[in-house]
This record gives sequence, structure tokens and C-alpha cells, in this order.
Amino acid sequence: MKVLVINAGSSSLKYQLLETTNNDVMAKGLCERIGIDGVLVHTGNKSDEKFTIHTPMATHSEAIKAVIDILLDPDKGVIASMREIDAVGHRVVHGGEFFSDSVVITDKVLKAIEDCVPLAPLHNPPNLIGIQACREVMGPDVPMVGVFDTAFHQTMPQSHYMYAIPYEYYNKYKIRRYGFHGTSHKYVSQQAAEMLGRPAEELKLITCHLGNGSSICAINGGKSFDTSMGFTPLDGLPMGTRAGNIDPAIIEFLAENENLSAAQVIDILNKKSGMLGISGVSSDFRDLDAAIADGNARAALAKDMFNLSVKKIIGSYIAEMGGVDAIIFTAGVGENDRSVRWDVCEHMEYLGIKVDPEKNKYRGKQMDISLDYARVRVLVIPTNEELMIAKDTERLVGELNK
Ligand code: ADP
Repeated sequence: MKVLVINAGSSSLKYQLLETTNNDVMAKGLCERIGIDGVLVHTGNKSDEKFTIHTPMATHSEAIKAVIDILLDPDKGVIASMREIDAVGHRVVHGGEFFSDSVVITDKVLKAIEDCVPLAPLHNPPNLIGIQACREVMGPDVPMVGVFDTAFHQTMPQSHYMYAIPYEYYNKYKIRRYGFHGTSHKYVSQQAAEMLGRPAEELKLITCHLGNGSSICAINGGKSFDTSMGFTPLDGLPMGTRAGNIDPAIIEFLAENENLSAAQVIDILNKKSGMLGISGVSSDFRDLDAAIADGNARAALAKDMFNLSVKKIIGSYIAEMGGVDAIIFTAGVGENDRSVRWDVCEHMEYLGIKVDPEKNKYRGKQMDISLDYARVRVLVIPTNEELMIAKDTERLVGELNK
């Protein structure tokens, strides 16, 4: 099945065309500056050549049209007719408590995604626009599937997802831990079960999605049991620019002393904190490493804080699950940064965790990096959210056609 995977942001739109029979990425690309002018960077797999096309994209519909045009282009494209696209899979950030799995998009589903807008005001509206744009351009007969960042975490027990604030706010506003990066946590946990040659139902896993945004997930018997992101993706670990978990009283203190509104403080916690805020250098771990090599103490402090937070959460999840079979590192930092993996796992031999310094030198490659005798396996598994979206789309559209 040929599935077009769409990840629509407020002014950008990422796409991949995948053939699910052999997991081949036929073409992929990114539309940027939608509503401003419009730039499309496209790669088809006939060659690895990248094409940059400047074309007006006033709306997401125009961006989708540009994507379809380039996919059909005799030189740069990979298909001869739009009808070759069997289905579309959309990444949707927030599914609230409505969705615990991916779902075929109907009017009722669209309404539920809309009902989740207050929970993800920056993300769900562009996701909805992406869905509507595809409908407009491709017509109502092409089946579409929504794949939610939150869905995988809907299996968390209530004691894990509640915040200890008056219960009425859960009833009234659905304030609770939702968790994000669910598609990635699910994908790498499935790959891990395959690597370990054991059914997911038997395994206790901790998946560390460490990128620009980072979250950790305890996966017990194939199901999300706890996760570090919460009501919003600001909770949990300190990240590139996000503060992660802090004492909430800091918000009022800063608002008062810096003469800021609560929204302005939250903006600082989202965009000027984390690795950037502590180091004063950058949100990018590669820049931090360069600064550390130059003797920058604050860059070193930022990374130490990050590694410590990852370690603390891993420790708490081992305690919650009563053990762990494997710890998985994924996403930009997890796949590439050997010093993060080493520092996080250091001094955990007593738990059966021991990374092999030689195997840890590799990066961006699926492999077991633990010492042979270690009781707990430490795995590096490159994430692939697009493939997961395409596979879910294939499964649900297949069921539809039964
Ligand atoms: P997101 O999808 O959240 O935007 P990614 O998972 O692509 O983020 O991760 C991006 C981050 O990965 C970069 O900001 C950078 O800090 C880190 N990264 C990428 N490559 C490397 C590398 N070779 N060494 C260390 N960190 C890296």
C-alpha cells in the first residue's frame, strides 16, 4: 500500500510517501514558510538529489497541491497518478482521552480532534488544517488515518496520570498527564522486543526519546505504564529550550519580580530554558559538546543536569515496574550522543546495567551497546515515526476494506 504520511505544523508540512509492503520511502520532503511565501525541499528515491522549489503557498491546501505536483512530476516525482496514493496517515498531536489507538478519520473523529484544541492550542489546529487540506486536494474517497502522539499513553493507570490538585479540575478540564512522543516510544519498544527475541507482553522496557524535545516511557508488557511528559510537552526532562519539571511556585515568583504575565513566563519556560537557558550557548547538544571541549562550565552544567534527570527517571521507572529488561535510547541525542548514554548509565551496575565503551562508540545504528554479561540490555534504536504512521494507516485501512 502506498501511504502518504503528513505532519502539518503551523507554517510547515513534512511528508513522506511510503510503500508499506517493503517499507520503502519513495519520496519525502518539507514545505516551509506556508502563508509567507513557500519553499518546498523534496527528495525522491530515484536519486538522492534534493530539489528546492520556491512556489507560493498561501495555505496548507496549496502546500498539499505542491506536494502532489512534485510527486507526479515526470523528473522529480515517483508516481504517475494521484490515484496511486492508497491512503493518507496524519500525525495528530493530541487525542485527549478520546483515542487510545490510531483511527480512520471521519467527521466524528474530526470533531473530537477539535474538542482537544484547548489541550494543544499550538498543535491540533494545524493538524486539522492538514487533514482538511488533503480532503480538499485529494477528494473524500481517499481514506485517511489519524495517529496521535498521546494515544499510546492512554494505558497508564490513573494513579500514574493524575496530578494531586483538586479532583474537580480533572472532571472540569481533563487536567492530567497525557504524555507525548507515543508513536516513537511504541515503535522503538516493538523493535526492541524483536531484537531481544521475546514477546512485548513479557518485557519491562524503558524507552528514552532524547531529541530537541525529550521524554521517557516505562513500558510494562507492551503498554505505556508511565511517561515523563505531562499535561503538556513542557513537563519532565529539561530539553533543548524547555525547562521540564520545576517547582510551579517559580512561575508566580518570576511573574511578580520580572513584571511578566503567566503566559510570558510559560513562554520563557518553553523557549529560553533547558540546555539553552543554562548554558547560554545553544539548545543543540553538538554545540554544547563543542563548548564543553573549550572549557565552558555552564555548557557542562547543562549536560550534567540533563543526564541526571534522565538517570532519575530511569531509576524511578525501574522501581515502579519492579525491574527492567532493556533501556532504549532513541531520537537525535539518544541515537548519536555517546556521552549522554554513558553518563546516564554510569554507576548503575548494581541494577545490572553496564554499557560497553567500545560498542557505545557507534552512532545512529540499531545495536545492543551493553556488555555481554550485563543483566539489562541497553539498546540504541533509531526511531521512525513515519513508518509507524504508515503501518497503522495500512492496518486500519485494511480493516476498513475487509
Ligand atoms: P526533534 O525531532 O525533537 O526536533 P531530533 O530527535 O531530531 O529532534 O533531535 C535533534 C537534536 O539531536 C539536536 O538538537 C541535537 O542536539 C541532537 N543531535 C543530533 N545529532 C547529534 C550528534 N551527532 N551528537 C549529539 N547530538 C546530536
